[in-house]
Amino acid sequence: MRNFIVIDGHSDYPVQVFRERESGSRFVIEKKHLPFCTQGGVAMEVATVGGDFSNGTWNGKDPGTVLKTIAYIHQEMAESADSLRLVLTKNDLEKVGESGTLSMLLNLEGAACITGNYPLGKYYELGVRAMSLTHNGKNIFAHGCARDSGRGLSDLGRCLIEEINGYDMILDLVHINEYGFFEALDLAQRPPVVSHSNVKTICNSFRNLTDDQLKALSRRGGVVGLNCLGFLIDGAFENQTIDRLLDHLDYIVDLIGIDHVGFGPDYIDYMIDFTRENLKKFPLYRGDLQFAIGASCISDMQKFVDRLLNRGYLEPEVEKIMSLNFLRVYQQNLPE
Ligand SMILES: [Zn+2]
Repeated sequence: MRNFIVIDGHSDYPVQVFRERESGSRFVIEKKHLPFCTQGGVAMEVATVGGDFSNGTWNGKDPGTVLKTIAYIHQEMAESADSLRLVLTKNDLEKVGESGTLSMLLNLEGAACITGNYPLGKYYELGVRAMSLTHNGKNIFAHGCARDSGRGLSDLGRCLIEEINGYDMILDLVHINEYGFFEALDLAQRPPVVSHSNVKTICNSFRNLTDDQLKALSRRGGVVGLNCLGFLIDGAFENQTIDRLLDHLDYIVDLIGIDHVGFGPDYIDYMIDFTRENLKKFPLYRGDLQFAIGASCISDMQKFVDRLLNRGYLEPEVEKIMSLNFLRVYQQNLPE
């Protein structure tokens, strides 16, 4: 069976890079992550250098931590120049999929680290090319979906969207509450993504999208990335399977067509205790953490290809889902 290139629309791997390099490791991606990506056919990851989580020396809201993480990623790129690529431009996207390489596009998961002294432009200058407004909680720009206040963007949040419009970068509407989602979508000047969320009609989690959100996203030319975290797949632990996740995909394709879905698998098997501790803080998070039963690591991504072909998707459709849909939106956002 033919292998398909995979774009991972959301990875937390830089957090792990930070933790490992803080304890003296080098070549972290090349040695501990790239082999699994290669096995799964993953050619590119949108990889977060921020977020609201904290643990030990890592604090994703702290500009110092984020800047240090970005510096670590640049060091990793320099150490492994033959195999790792940073995606900054449309031209860099053209090179995604070169044999034996992994491309990374840096993302801020939530704008918590953006302050008067550390404006968006500073992160953009250092290579960040995608961002969401919030993680699960609220910040000065908007409200996350876990503690939904019923309020949308703040004035600062609206200004931040304008700023994102001004830079050639990808707006990610993941994690934001519904009010903020629709406001931000109205203000966005280019197609956005929701990098790692599933369908609320199938699995009623605070992190998943309503049908109205999915329809609005598709009207703006956006793409949603399916999330392999079990609690976003099904409310029952035993039903959190690869096939149940693909029911979400079928549903999205029926609702908004084949051009608006990809994968943002969110595999954090390398730091699962860290994530479990951080999720416990959110009242709406229930149950334990596992990944799609049958596909528990990034190295399993080709299993989705097999299942999609078995479900009757044609090869060109599978290609769109595994890579081309996200690549199209990234092309529409990044600079020349
Ligand atoms: Zn997330």
